[in-house]
Amino acid sequence: MTIQELMAELAVSPMTIHRDLNKLAETGRVVKTHGGAALPETPETPVATAGCAICKRTIPERTAVVIQTERQGILGACCPHCAMALLDRIRTTDLVLVTDFLYGQMVNADEAAYIIGSSVTYCCRPGILAFATWEDAEHFQRGFGGEILGFVQAREAMRRKQSLQRAPQPLTWEAQAPAAITGSPRSERPR
Ligand SMILES: [Zn+2]
Ligand SMILES: [Zn+2]
Repeated sequence: MTIQELMAELAVSPMTIHRDLNKLAETGRVVKTHGGAALPETPETPVATAGCAICKRTIPERTAVVIQTERQGILGACCPHCAMALLDRIRTTDLVLVTDFLYGQMVNADEAAYIIGSSVTYCCRPGILAFATWEDAEHFQRGFGGEILGFVQAREAMRRKQSLQRAPQPLTWEAQAPAAITGSPRSERPR
């Protein structure tokens, strides 16, 4: 995606976000906060009780993702990891809100920054954390490492990681085998 394309998208999204947030707030699914939205205090939201749509675990407050779909209504995911898997399965989405890992407010998924591969694993593996701003993500990265990505790049990175995990083991072994065979076993354990 080019900067121009990104700018074009960002220019459109704020209005859409407010409209959709209002819609969600009216039905009590989110509580509008300054510059964002949060899940309601009451634990009896459909999202909170249903658990993650992918892995079924209880949705942690700090990493919750809310996906509004036309056909299936509101879906919840435990963290961006499961949310991205879910987004690959469902075709149409109106709105995706991710929870900022540091402050807990919900922000539009397109505008959040994501960290993959940090030393913090909070929910699913490979872990991916969302941040409201790139600045926050950079501060977090300084302490805990990882790579900062935008939404689109993060989704691509997660797909790559998933397909690597699913790749048959022998393929990896064959690729590494020549080096392992030529190396002397004794050199690995010197006496
Ligand atoms: Zn999950
Ligand atoms: Zn998760």
